[in-house]
Amino acid sequence: MTTVQGRSSVPPLSIGKRTTRDIRNASRFAVLRGMYAVGTPTRQELAQLTGLSFATVSTIVNELFGIGLLAEAGREDSGGGRPRARLKLAAERGLLLGVDVAETYIHVDVFDAALHRLTREEHPIRERSDPTYVIGEIVGTIQAALANHPGAPVLGTGVSLPGQVQPEAGVSVFAPNWGWHQVPVQDLLEDRLGLPVHLDNPLKATTVAELWFGHGREVGDLVTVNLGTGVGAGIAIDGQLVRGVTNNAGEWGHTTLIMDGRACRCGRLGCVEAYIGVPGLMATFRAEHPGHPYARLKSQSRFVSSVADGLRREDPAARWLIERFAHELGAALANLVNMINPRRVVLSSWTAQAVGEWLIPPTRERMRAESIAGSADAVVLVMTAVEDSPVGLGMAALALENFLETAGVPSGGNLRG
Ligand SMILES: [Zn+2]
Repeated sequence: MTTVQGRSSVPPLSIGKRTTRDIRNASRFAVLRGMYAVGTPTRQELAQLTGLSFATVSTIVNELFGIGLLAEAGREDSGGGRPRARLKLAAERGLLLGVDVAETYIHVDVFDAALHRLTREEHPIRERSDPTYVIGEIVGTIQAALANHPGAPVLGTGVSLPGQVQPEAGVSVFAPNWGWHQVPVQDLLEDRLGLPVHLDNPLKATTVAELWFGHGREVGDLVTVNLGTGVGAGIAIDGQLVRGVTNNAGEWGHTTLIMDGRACRCGRLGCVEAYIGVPGLMATFRAEHPGHPYARLKSQSRFVSSVADGLRREDPAARWLIERFAHELGAALANLVNMINPRRVVLSSWTAQAVGEWLIPPTRERMRAESIAGSADAVVLVMTAVEDSPVGLGMAALALENFLETAGVPSGGNLRG
């Protein structure tokens, strides 16, 4: 992993206020990831783990002590010198909420400050898309979740919304399935809840969860790939989430797989998603096997679970679909591999969970065959290492970052080590 010291080679003209803040946040992020990876590290171990200088780690640790997020877990002999403190996250400091809002449900996961999940509230929503209804349902579900934790302070609330989100502005820029344009969701929620709210989308949340609690504990260069109704990717380079200028980095589902191909719900033709999103898989299957029982299924989730059952029974039609899926997915992943040169490509979300064990081997083969040699040799295709609710967990981690950034943690001096 590149150390933050390495970033001091940025040309002087580009070191503005924003860049300095980014460096500080990146250092703090690295220290927190170290805390979650090791549990009760010493300052020395954090410095080794993050590549930051001991002085930088000490400054950040002191800041985190200052706002009550860290505590001492004990002291140990350092072989003649001063005893070394082991550090731990102060779980009781407050609550972090991770909220996953999809077209058909709202899930609110409540975590302590050490990001252990305490409770979960699940709430189905109807197919109504007006912001008043959806915002009201989000507020109601959060209030129901918090009723289980009376009196506990809430440090932050991370809300994942489908579609394009601009976190800095707190706005849902475009949610195609709801027809939303420029809805100021953050203000609407903060007014109703009286809590700090941070918005993002599921691709970013999944990638943060993978960075903090999954494969990101071992590698810093990874791409997470969500396979479901929609498909998309989240990119991390050097342990940092890549957002792009308008938070749309990773919209790989809307890159072209087949020139002038099938219509996609984004309005373009031939997108990756039009083939390997679940509605695309259903269309592919119906065209080849019109009389097969799966071809009559309307529900996406029943289609995927039926195909998974078929694979268990070695149904040739299910096998055919998975081979076709792997052929298209593998080629589309090779484009990502050639562009990003990652160490791991991580499959997540419900389709991947259902059929991953059959999908991964042929996809891996196709991805490697279609990637340039040096990149193909370096990359591994794997299932996510975050077992439960990566969107909620990632949003809670983002809410924590937001809390640290906005709750007045002082810069504390030169954090560039
Ligand atoms: Zn598209």
